Amino acid sequence: ATFSNLSERLVKTFAHLRTKGKLSPADVDATVREIRRALLDADVALTVVKAFTARVRERALSDEVNQALNPAQQVVKIVDEELVAILGGETRHLRFAKQPPTVIMLAGLQGAGKTTFAGKLALRLRGEGHTPILVAADLQRPNAVGQLQVVGEQAGVSVYAPEPGNGVGDPVKVAKASIRYARDKQHDVVIVDTAGRTGVDEQMMKQAAAIRKAIDPDEVLFVIDAMIGQDAVATAKAFDEGVDFTGVVLSKLDGDTRGGAALSVVSVTGKPILFASTGERLEDLEVFHPERQARRILDMGDVLTLIEQAQKAFDEEEARKVADKIAREAFTLDDFLKQMQQIKKLGSMKKLLGMLPGAAGMRQQIEQFDDSLLTRTEAIIQSMTKAERDNPRILNGSRRLRIANGSGTTVSEVNQLVQRFEQAAKMMKSVARGGMPSIPGMGSL
Ligand code: GDP
Repeated sequence: ATFSNLSERLVKTFAHLRTKGKLSPADVDATVREIRRALLDADVALTVVKAFTARVRERALSDEVNQALNPAQQVVKIVDEELVAILGGETRHLRFAKQPPTVIMLAGLQGAGKTTFAGKLALRLRGEGHTPILVAADLQRPNAVGQLQVVGEQAGVSVYAPEPGNGVGDPVKVAKASIRYARDKQHDVVIVDTAGRTGVDEQMMKQAAAIRKAIDPDEVLFVIDAMIGQDAVATAKAFDEGVDFTGVVLSKLDGDTRGGAALSVVSVTGKPILFASTGERLEDLEVFHPERQARRILDMGDVLTLIEQAQKAFDEEEARKVADKIAREAFTLDDFLKQMQQIKKLGSMKKLLGMLPGAAGMRQQIEQFDDSLLTRTEAIIQSMTKAERDNPRILNGSRRLRIANGSGTTVSEVNQLVQRFEQAAKMMKSVARGGMPSIPGMGSL
């Protein structure tokens, strides 16, 4: 997954650091060097790496660390904070116009994922009670309009496009007309998809700039493929100069990318990342939270996103019940089972597991994850009595053997499940209390 290599390297570096008590300047330098190499190998732009490591070094050598009870942990905290900073700091949400319609224009290279993102955003906004419309202002690429129509249909929103057979239309006119149309038909959000090219070229940029000028959008979102590596910087700069975008969408963050683009684009352009596109399904869209992303990179897990995703699969009442149970510390294996069955509905278990604290250390297991594990886990819990599900503490050796036999699994699988449940319960408790979940082997920050 994205960042997994970077993540592993950082985790290893910190594990080494934790073997030391007080940190000497040499220790700090060695650590900073490791971080620097890990970032460069992840394709983060050199200027960004330099500034980042300089800040980490300065802070790591300061009293803030020297006087800390646990200096190594303090360094991890510094890296966490600096990562959050280069990812943009605060979460930047989509801005809506005071007077509808809100106009959102998309720009980016061909194949970046604009059209897919248009559908994802439309679906999400529709789910939030908006009445978006998609506009095809990409009139060059053969079948671009057709592709948007397919995406619109999947998202359940209508698509504004010129009548086919009119030859090559004028995208500026189409975009302008679409806004009048939206106003007439009471669509409160207009998402304008524009043409892309395989490389940045002047004509495309001029056209995009002309559309921007004509429709005066509330947001201009630059969609960038997280896989483009070192080219990210030049491309982002070109688009920033060309269309002065207001925010960034990282696409294909699910792929096996090193993540450099994500870590460079904010510093290079000064523009925030609003969304991360994480798959080919229209549901695969996340609001980008710098803090959560940093914690994923540092393998502290992204429990908040995990819970949000899980809640999407629950009906609200169920979600409230679970939250209430977590708060009362009454979360049982039965609830665990119910949640698991609902999480199964979400699709990719691998992606969800990747958000757990310690995921970098479990990468291989996660890659090898197969759904029969879920089925076996269900079988184990179903082989327990009500009393056992309510209170796993009563599970002694003979009970565990009975459950293993009853579910066609082994005692060690039963043990693992109980352990996982206890960890999950503990984690959720600390999240519910607003604290940071503790990191296996690291204590809590
Ligand atoms: P556009 O030319 O910028 O409109 O790009 P498209 O939306 O047509 O996307 C290009 C290709 O990337 C298509 O095959 C999409 O299915 C794929 N794609 C788009 N977003 C994602 C994503 O987040 N993850 C993955 N894995 N593929 C994506």
